[in-house]
Amino acid sequence: MKVKIRKGDLVEVISGRLEDKGKRGQVIRVMPQDGRVVVQGVNMRKKHQRQVQTQGRSLSPGIIEFEGSIHISNVMLVCPKCDQPTRVAVQREGDDAARVCKHCQALIDG
Ligand SMILES: [Zn+2]
Repeated sequence: MKVKIRKGDLVEVISGRLEDKGKRGQVIRVMPQDGRVVVQGVNMRKKHQRQVQTQGRSLSPGIIEFEGSIHISNVMLVCPKCDQPTRVAVQREGDDAARVCKHCQALIDG
């Protein structure tokens, strides 16, 4: 499966948990192998954190909130030009693959 969503993209949640539906946020992580993405402010989870030492960082104890991953089919890329969740077409020009909005034909990259 080709993943057309990249880190930094603005996406809208189109299905999944009710409280997340319609939310928009920036993609902060893409996991192409799992077909999942992590979107800022979407699928918030809480966990209790003990004082731990990880990769040289010290995490403070308490309740931390973090974004859980969601399936990539639950989100749609939001076109920066027409501001609508859209499917994208991929246009190849030489080695470059440019993504194009299927609503307004605008180039999504650059
Ligand atoms: Zn558009």
